[in-house]
Amino acid sequence: MSNRSLRGTRLGALSMESDEGVLSAPRQEAEYVCANNHTIVLPFSVEAEVPPVWECRCGLEALLKDGAEPEPKVVKPTRTHWDMLLERRAVPELEKLLEQRLELLRSGKIRSNSAF
Ligand SMILES: [Zn+2]
Repeated sequence: MSNRSLRGTRLGALSMESDEGVLSAPRQEAEYVCANNHTIVLPFSVEAEVPPVWECRCGLEALLKDGAEPEPKVVKPTRTHWDMLLERRAVPELEKLLEQRLELLRSGKIRSNSAF
């Protein structure tokens, strides 16, 4: 039965070799550029999915060079009250409203701290 155990050892050695083969899988280099023009080069396994965006050392998002544009993030732009007002009213209209309001204020019909 000593023959069998020897064979087992050989098989084990062979499988270790194939593990090494996996570790030295071909690599690809992904190049990222951020808005500050910093370049980051990262090695990825060719089988790995290269992320389209990488965080740069300056904190900005660096985009993959020659890569597809990343999915635009659904971020609602911060709207101020003024923005919302402009969406409903044109500026000349607002000027007219302001003029009316100022007239009311000057005539003392409303107090300056009353809500619009
Ligand atoms: Zn940067």
